[in-house]
Amino acid sequence: MDGSMPVKGNAAEMISDILARQKTAWALDVTPEAAVRLDRLDRLERMIGAWSERFSAAISADFGNRSAVSTTLTDIVPTLAAIRHARRHLKRWMRPRRVGLSWTGWPASALLIRQPFGVVGIVAPWNYPLNLVLSPLVGALAAGNRAMLKPSELTPGFSEALRVAVGEHFAEDEVAVIAGGPEVAAAFTAAPFDHLIFTGSTAVGRKVAEAAAKNLTPVTLELGGKSPAILDRSADFESAVPRLIWGKLLNAGQTCVAPDYVLVPRDRIEVFLVAAKAAVAAQYPTISANGDYTSIISERHFERLTRLVDEAREKGATVVSLAGEGDPERRLFSPVAVVGAPDDCTLMQEEIFGPILPVVPYDTADEAIAYVNGRDRPLALYWFGTDRVSERKVLTSTIAGGVTVNDTILHLSQDDLPFGGVGASGYGAYHGEAGFLALSKEKPVLRQARWSAVTLLYPPYGRLADWLLKLLSRFA
Ligand code: NAD
Repeated sequence: MDGSMPVKGNAAEMISDILARQKTAWALDVTPEAAVRLDRLDRLERMIGAWSERFSAAISADFGNRSAVSTTLTDIVPTLAAIRHARRHLKRWMRPRRVGLSWTGWPASALLIRQPFGVVGIVAPWNYPLNLVLSPLVGALAAGNRAMLKPSELTPGFSEALRVAVGEHFAEDEVAVIAGGPEVAAAFTAAPFDHLIFTGSTAVGRKVAEAAAKNLTPVTLELGGKSPAILDRSADFESAVPRLIWGKLLNAGQTCVAPDYVLVPRDRIEVFLVAAKAAVAAQYPTISANGDYTSIISERHFERLTRLVDEAREKGATVVSLAGEGDPERRLFSPVAVVGAPDDCTLMQEEIFGPILPVVPYDTADEAIAYVNGRDRPLALYWFGTDRVSERKVLTSTIAGGVTVNDTILHLSQDDLPFGGVGASGYGAYHGEAGFLALSKEKPVLRQARWSAVTLLYPPYGRLADWLLKLLSRFA
């Protein structure tokens, strides 16, 4: 096997060199057989198996603290599940689809053939560093592509481990890792890939879409934003609040689909806060002692969260501590709820990406829906309640990347549910067959029969053509 090189010297040259070699290798086997793809998926699975402990340790060191249980639960297991799911369904996904023709096409026949695009570029963020670089890779390999991976500069230990692990298990012209920061990332996304999957912030997503447009490279943009949770009047707070808190505090809120803020009936705010404190106490009896609570990724991110809370407080919001002291030294940010933050504070404008939960009061269900619809289309929406009429109203009146009803996060844990945003939270989707299709060209092929009715319409046109056109005008 050939190790992928860390980026030194001219990153753009190195990227274009590896891309050219991957394209050449791909051209020698444009549509790989299932056996080739299964072998790549097997190698990916073996790689994760052999490296899981080293990956976990590197991720924990990159974060400051992140428990191995968290990494196994949110990075390793979902990626292994995606590999196994792809392997189980691969032959069915690859099969050409027969398509029925209208009578005007008789007696021809038609097929849809699913083919790889070629070389896929995958750019990933730091928050689930393994899952978000390798899950898109599962779709890329299953669809028969080759791939280049650009993990985040904020998880340098993991990126280095990934580079070595990939080098051990794949030839560089199959899968390669390019490590580096924003400059390398910009050079990467400017390269003429056959498809790009970018996971990251909306601001950088815009730049990626622009760079890709120059090459007409199709892009899947998996972005973030403010995902709302709505506690309906019919919600059972005893079961709903712990589920909401679990989703909010997973990875200390550094989750793209974390509930960003919660809409609560105005007269139940106090009940909600009591339940939220109880839920945090049950899940994290200690913030700093047992290692279950994840650190904020960097000093800069920690300070930003502190500023978000300070600004909201200065503008009149009430900050309610949901647990004991955090530990700034280890970047353990103790969770807080913020009630009554005005709309113009940064907390209510930007994606929070941390353990701060704004609580927004509402009086009627219509008001809650209007609040959601008055903002960018979110990546996820959560609704808690037992009133089916109310549930249906929210589902039909709002647009979101995905929804979990009566829980949080879980819609993206299922490989048969496409995962992707809408509007400011991105476009395109992956996971399972959606990921396979996102990275395949579905090529329509019409096979003409020995006898073709179209010949009756060849010029010169006479009475037959007139009659046929009348027929077509009425019945085609
Ligand atoms: P980010 O946008 O800052 O960085 C993501 C990646 O983009 C990194 O690899 C970075 O090196 C690269 N990058 C930086 N500048 C670039 C440029 N000019 N051109 C091309 N690439 C560039 O995001 P982040 O801080 O790593 O991650 C947090 C964000 O990601 C949040 O907004 C979160 O919601 C979002 N996110 C979305 C999903 C999803 O699946 N939709 C998942 C996780 C995170």
